Amino acid sequence: MDTVKIGDRLYEGKAKILYATQDPDLYVMKFKDSATAFDGKKKGIIEDKGACNARISAKLFEVLADEGVANHYVKLLSPTDMLVRRLTIIPIEVVVRNIAAGSISKRLGLEEGTPLKVPVVELYLKSDALGDPLINEYHVRALNLATDEEVGVLTNMALRSNEILSGFFADKRLILVDFKLEFGKRPDGSVILGDEISPDTCRLWDRDSKEKLDKDRFRRDLGSVEEAYREVLSRVIGEVD
Ligand code: UDP
Repeated sequence: MDTVKIGDRLYEGKAKILYATQDPDLYVMKFKDSATAFDGKKKGIIEDKGACNARISAKLFEVLADEGVANHYVKLLSPTDMLVRRLTIIPIEVVVRNIAAGSISKRLGLEEGTPLKVPVVELYLKSDALGDPLINEYHVRALNLATDEEVGVLTNMALRSNEILSGFFADKRLILVDFKLEFGKRPDGSVILGDEISPDTCRLWDRDSKEKLDKDRFRRDLGSVEEAYREVLSRVIGEVD
């Protein structure tokens, strides 16, 4: 592959910037240190977050690809810049939960930490203006967000990713409480996994102490935010048993 030339900035989000390259099939995703929570009402900088999240995501995408979950990751170009395949993002955020925390605890009155008997898949409409409301398959159909077949595929891919990632994190003494995935379509119509998988988008608890090692440290002002991201990185890329 030729040296990648970073081109026009296509989109800047809260945590990442997307750039075109000279190859129309490839984009560069730059991971930023800025952090937001509560629909952008809380803002801050988490030092080295971009580099941590890029490396963590890269490793997790490799693990998923090895197990047959197709995703957009190609390679890391620098500590914060990831080369990815071009996708048309499906405007649905797919959350998988193993243990109650965050919004499901509030919505259903479940104490944080309550194990769920089976993994729960939830769909949210990707809309900053509306604060990503919870939706179901009927809304997806009514709003023409994706076909029934695509929803079936992304639900299965999300559940399979949960099995793979839960096992991977367990080997690193981490509990995967919940996480959010985004999917997109390739030019041939196939649905693959996109975006990122990092402590910004996963809840990860230390297996033994149950300490939170994810963005909840920022959301809830728990302190040691940078340390938590670095700890996850070192466990994910290291050989912790
Ligand atoms: N999540 C995310 N982006 C969002 C909303 C949620 O990455 O816009 C992740 C979040 O980090 C957590 C999971 O999805 O791992 C479930 O989040 P929840 O619905 O509990 O909402 P929160 O408490 O994060 O507002």
